[in-house]
Order: sequence, then C-alpha cells, then structure tokens
Amino acid sequence: MPEAQLIDGRAIAGQILEESAQRAQGLIARGIVPGLVFIRVGEDPASKVYVGMKEQASAKLGIASQTIVLPATTSEAELLRRIHDLNRDRSVHGILVQAPLPPPSVSERVYASVSPRKDVDGFHPENVGRLMLGERDGFRPCTPAGVLELLVRSEVEIPGSHVVILGRGNIVGKPMAAMLIQKDVHADATVTLCHSRTRDLTDHTRRADILIAAMGVPRFVTAAMVKPGAVVIDVGVNRIADPSAKSGTRLVGDVDFEAVRQIAGKITPNPGGVGPMTIAMLMRNTVRAAELAGAG
Ligand code: NAP
Repeated sequence: MPEAQLIDGRAIAGQILEESAQRAQGLIARGIVPGLVFIRVGEDPASKVYVGMKEQASAKLGIASQTIVLPATTSEAELLRRIHDLNRDRSVHGILVQAPLPPPSVSERVYASVSPRKDVDGFHPENVGRLMLGERDGFRPCTPAGVLELLVRSEVEIPGSHVVILGRGNIVGKPMAAMLIQKDVHADATVTLCHSRTRDLTDHTRRADILIAAMGVPRFVTAAMVKPGAVVIDVGVNRIADPSAKSGTRLVGDVDFEAVRQIAGKITPNPGGVGPMTIAMLMRNTVRAAELAGAG
C-alpha cells in the first residue's frame, strides 16, 4: 500500500488567511479596522507562545490586536470587570481569553461573560447551543472548525462516513462531534465519541473512515488501530523529553505518525496539520465579527 497522502494544514490555513485578509481589507476600506483583544492571565509559557503567534497573524491581516496581561493572582471579579469593559468598547470586535486560566477563575463563567457577538473562540454557551442546534450564524470553536475545513478542502467524503473521535473535551472532541452530526452538506456523518472509559477502543477506531485524535496522549494511535485507507487527523499537542533536542523536549501529536502513515489514506502531519488551522479560523471569526458589527 502506498504511503498516505499528507493533508497540508499550512497550505490550507494559508488559503483561509488570504481570504480573511481580503475581507479585512474590505472592512478597512470602509473605515472599520477589525479589533481583537487577547487576555492572558499568568505566565504559562505555552500561552505566551500561542498568544504571540495569534498577535503575529493578526498584524499580517491588518487586524488591530492588543494583549492584556494580568497577574496569576487576578480575581475572577477583576477579570470579569475587564471583559465587561471590552464588551462595551465598539473598537473591539473579538475577545479571546487564553486558556488555561489559573484558579480561582472558573473558565466556564469567564467564557460566558464575553459578549456572544465578540466570542471569536466560540466558547460562550449561546454559541455552543447554536452549534448544537445546527445554526450557522454563531461562532464555532476554532480547532474543530479548522479540522472540518481541512477535511472539506482535502476533498474527504464526510456524509455517510463513520467518524471516530478520540477525546470528549469541550474545546475539541465535543464540538467536533456536534459539527459532524448536523444534517448538512459538509457533515451528515455517523459519529462515535470515545473517551477514557470507552471499552474495546481499538474495535471502534478500526471501524473509522475518519479518525480524529484529540486526547493529549503522545503517539497513542498506532497502525494497528487504523483501518487501511482511513483519514487520520491528529489534533494532539504533547511535549515529550528528547535528549537530542537543544531544549531537551519536543512536541508530538496523539498519532504515531511514521507507522500510521504507512496504512492511512490521508493523514495530517503534526506539526503542520491542525495547529495552523486553529489560528486561521480565529482570524476568520474575528473578521466575521467585525463584518457583523459593521452591518449594525
Ligand atoms: P481534554 O479536555 O483534556 O480532553 C481529553 C480527552 O481525551 C478526554 O475526553 C479524555 O477522556 C480523553 N482521553 C485521555 N486519555 C485517554 C485514553 N487513554 N483513552 C481514551 N481517551 C482518553 O483535552 P482538549 O482540550 O480537548 O485537547 C485535546 C488535545 O488537543 C490536547 O493534546 C491539546 O493540546 C490538543 N489541542 C490542540 C489544538 C491545536 O490547535 N492543535 C487546540 C486545542 C487542543 P475523559 O473525558 O474520560 O477524561
């Protein structure tokens, strides 16, 4: 069997960024500069890197971005007050509270305090509900929306397919399932959602036409778990020890890429698959938020 075809997340993200840049330019020509505010609480090193990458992407598109950095000791009341002010600021079209939030803040309460119209991360309960109902006008979470876009633009047949998702997290697994079960041209899949209590996991994964790994367990998915010719999407981001690397660590996904590419039909590299899509979808959501605000 030939090696799997690579699903090039960087190239597809590049297309989406280009489309978003054109829309952003259209807004700027009308005097509307899309505005995006990141809130980072504490000094989590990964969060610093992620926000930095999102700032860079914003600048390239002409989106005016600003990062508010708050100390890890910030109370939830103070955080909510900041968000309330941004909800009222007409120059701000998107608000992103970078996860993870240090205690005592409770992520769900904080996400729910962002105006649903500025919720470019798609975590507000109103947007979560709209997604579940199959409505198209809410904001959808960036990572699963990016996975769907990867499948569509790689011409993967989704309707009627059996999709197995590994992981039921609120950020990836659950919204991914909600997207794929809709009665829709780019959905209509039969979805199996697996988690740590799933029995006989391999029996499920081996039946998948499309296998999406979003667990956070390094190289969990082996070749023996994959049906020959299946499409494999690796969402996981895991830091593992690597004495040969300068930093002593490196990032790997949830899929044993070298082994699984020998059996899969199509596969995302990791890095270079889902990661760039998350940022591209955030940019698209932000431009859309500004367009909606501009339309009154
Ligand atoms: P999460 O909320 O921690 O969820 C992980 C899920 O995996 C849980 O449902 C858990 O089951 C399940 N799980 C863990 N070990 C398992 C096992 N051995 N067998 C079966 N299921 C298992 O994580 P998340 O926020 O959804 O993120 C998932 C992964 O995606 C992480 O690696 C994260 O870094 C990555 N991610 C990547 C991007 C990107 O842009 N590329 C964006 C977001 C997240 P239980 O529910 O039973 O505990």
